Amino acid sequence: MASLDRNNKILIDLVRQPGNNRCADCGVPDPDWASCTLGIFVCLNCSGIHRDLADVSRVKSIRLDLWDDSLVQFMRERGNSAAKAIYEKCIPAFFYRPQYEDCTVLKDQWIRAKYERREFTGEKNNFRQAYCSDQFDTTLWKKGKDNKHFLKRIFQLSRKDFTLRYFIKEDSKLPKAVISMKDLNAVFQPEKIGHAHGLQISYVHDKRTRNLFVYHEKGQVIVSLFNAIRATRLAYLQKKHPTLRDNDLIPQITRYCLKEGYMEKTGPTQREPFKKRWFTLCSVNRKLLYFKSPLDATELGAVFIGTESHSYSVSESSGRSTRGGRWHFGVTLHTPDREFVFMCEQEQDQEEWLEAFRKVISQPMTPEDYANEANMRRGK
Ligand SMILES: [Zn+2]
Repeated sequence: MASLDRNNKILIDLVRQPGNNRCADCGVPDPDWASCTLGIFVCLNCSGIHRDLADVSRVKSIRLDLWDDSLVQFMRERGNSAAKAIYEKCIPAFFYRPQYEDCTVLKDQWIRAKYERREFTGEKNNFRQAYCSDQFDTTLWKKGKDNKHFLKRIFQLSRKDFTLRYFIKEDSKLPKAVISMKDLNAVFQPEKIGHAHGLQISYVHDKRTRNLFVYHEKGQVIVSLFNAIRATRLAYLQKKHPTLRDNDLIPQITRYCLKEGYMEKTGPTQREPFKKRWFTLCSVNRKLLYFKSPLDATELGAVFIGTESHSYSVSESSGRSTRGGRWHFGVTLHTPDREFVFMCEQEQDQEEWLEAFRKVISQPMTPEDYANEANMRRGK
């Protein structure tokens, strides 16, 4: 390897310092790139997003590019911590800060909100109002309940009565659905939905989960809606739990499921043929849901996952070749009502499912969990 320029060596020393040693935008360790106009160190992935913000950011490799003394001096003076104090000065509590694993549209809009639109510098307050206004209206493409077609629907998020409504047409008098903030969840699912801005909105209707799959062509609109939903959910949770602090409520606003994917499942006697199903496991509501396919509107069934002291456990089981099952990496879930046998295609899936189930089983139950468990077992 060619010997590094003196200035590159200075930058490599700088990037090892606390604050600089993680990407300024997604937090991943050991960033290798820098924005020489903003004075921040970023990872390769985020540097790609900065390239699209030519008016505010110019990125250079700290190892491969040539650096002038004046730019190195600026990097030394600024750095990630000082930049954070400017560009992340006042981020609303509800605002979602993406991590490395998050999808591109979330990271792209986070970086644009910070440096291009300067939403969090405290210079102007109108951005906060956009997320927290009484009503947020937008038109989204929504997947049909029983088909694969996406059609335009009008969505109205209301902070006044904590609801999200959607209408078939602009002049529709009555909404097709009025969704309460109570059980609402929203997560980006670009791969599942097949669109880079795909958002899954879930809620409970008639004791069953209802999934809506939507997107908007503009990344800014879908991410703004997502953060407006988060603002409304936080306001709802604050009203419902006046004694809890924001730090306790924030993880509940929206949440990813712990694990999702295909497994094969047999019936209650374990003599039924195995059928391939799409499973999702959520650690917040302790529910394992299964669907015929990933984009189904409602689940075929749900299993509550309690704790070990209430007779819930999970174990690895050996492959069985009978009853039509093609997969051989077994997971047996024991509940007080019955034993569920699932088969995974790969050993890694089996390990991940076992770990995910163990995580939920080891979590202590809340009073709300006890009520959910009683409801679900009564509903059988
Ligand atoms: Zn990054």
